[in-house]
Amino acid sequence: MFENLSERLSGVFDRLTRQGALSEEDVKTALREVRVALLEADVSLPVARDFVAAVQAKATGQAVTKSVTPGQQVVKIVHDALVDTLTGSEDPGALKIDNPPAPILMVGLQGSGKTTTTGKLAKRLKERDGKRVLMASLDIYRPAAMQQLQILGQQIGVDTLPIVPGENAVQIAKRARTQASLGGYDVYLLDTAGRLQIDQTLMQEVEDVRDAVKPRETLLVVDGLTGQVAVEVAEEFDAKVGISGVILTRMDGDGRGGAALSMRAVTGKPIRFVGLGEKMDALETFEPERIAGRILGMGDIVALVEKAQETIEAEQAERMMRRFQKGQFNMNDLRTQLEQMLKMGGMESIMGMMPGMGKMAAQVKEAGFDDRILKQQIALIQSMTKKERANPALLQASRKKRIAAGAGMDVSELNKLLKMHRQMADMMKKMGKGGMLKQAMKGMF
Ligand code: GDP
Repeated sequence: MFENLSERLSGVFDRLTRQGALSEEDVKTALREVRVALLEADVSLPVARDFVAAVQAKATGQAVTKSVTPGQQVVKIVHDALVDTLTGSEDPGALKIDNPPAPILMVGLQGSGKTTTTGKLAKRLKERDGKRVLMASLDIYRPAAMQQLQILGQQIGVDTLPIVPGENAVQIAKRARTQASLGGYDVYLLDTAGRLQIDQTLMQEVEDVRDAVKPRETLLVVDGLTGQVAVEVAEEFDAKVGISGVILTRMDGDGRGGAALSMRAVTGKPIRFVGLGEKMDALETFEPERIAGRILGMGDIVALVEKAQETIEAEQAERMMRRFQKGQFNMNDLRTQLEQMLKMGGMESIMGMMPGMGKMAAQVKEAGFDDRILKQQIALIQSMTKKERANPALLQASRKKRIAAGAGMDVSELNKLLKMHRQMADMMKKMGKGGMLKQAMKGMF
């Protein structure tokens, strides 16, 4: 059995004293465990090494969230980095199948699950995308393989190209194209022959078929349990034939799915689908989150860390609210609010969120109150001393002059800011009494 990564990490961190931020040494120690976990999950050594180095840079110096252990926090960082690596710009489930009939070439080694996956994909295209699908087996070496596809076709209600003995792979592929055109099919799937190992004859044949039909997608089917071998197979097929995506089979087994990470990192090709069983509906769109959780051996930790972060933010909001209710709304608070507004898309959007303030939002807009002004106001507050920020009542003429000059602005601008602060403080107090503040703030944090 694999040791859970979080268990490994808590072992490491239990020996360390708790600090406010993750130190370089802590992170290094933790990442040694992460590397072992990745290797156990079948991630190839160079990929695991590069990955860990990238994470090291990201994790060092991060503040440790209260209510989770540093180990859990590292897991979260590692998890997010895994998801990042596994996520491409493309939508895995969206195949290029416009311009009917669109040829899809299925390639891979024998035993990888290619024929089964061809059937699964045909079923998916038919049922989910409402496509008319034709399948053809190009495996002239194994009549049983041709029959297997035919039987699958009958099971799932998808047509297969009639078997004509004596044709070569290119002839069959061309016949499939003609039949697909004449028969009004949207897609035709070509299940190429596999070999136990990559050899020249196989590659040449697949290349010839590719040149004959110009596939819209060339999908490599690989056994997800074979780890490093799967990656080598993908590299070879990509170099010779060019693949547009990968389907990992047997992801229902007890392998940890590390092949997915290596595959993505080494070939840069998107993983489109994963096979999760022998049945015809056991094919799912690839989901980086799921595989990342599986590689690490836990999904709950990530949820836990997220929850902890939420809790902390909620606690901060609560504390602020209690102060506002007592009428303690100082310049630091105003600055936090202004910064929050900037982050959330400006004054207008934030006012729109607060009950009863829609009208004010419109006025704010009319007055030309945009992000530039928010920034200027933040600059004015920054130009105040700590004491002044805590107690704006201190601001008399000479102080005002100094502050405005410090921010490169006019005293009239500062007066506007002070007026706004007073209005907001009053409003907060009033809303606090009526319980509206709590409601309003819910939308803001
Ligand atoms: P091919 O030689 O590449 O065409 O492989 P097949 O499609 O004949 O599959 C070989 C075996 O793997 C069959 O027994 C399939 O049922 C099985 N298989 C294929 N995909 C999966 C999968 O995702 N999970 C599991 N558990 N078995 C699979």
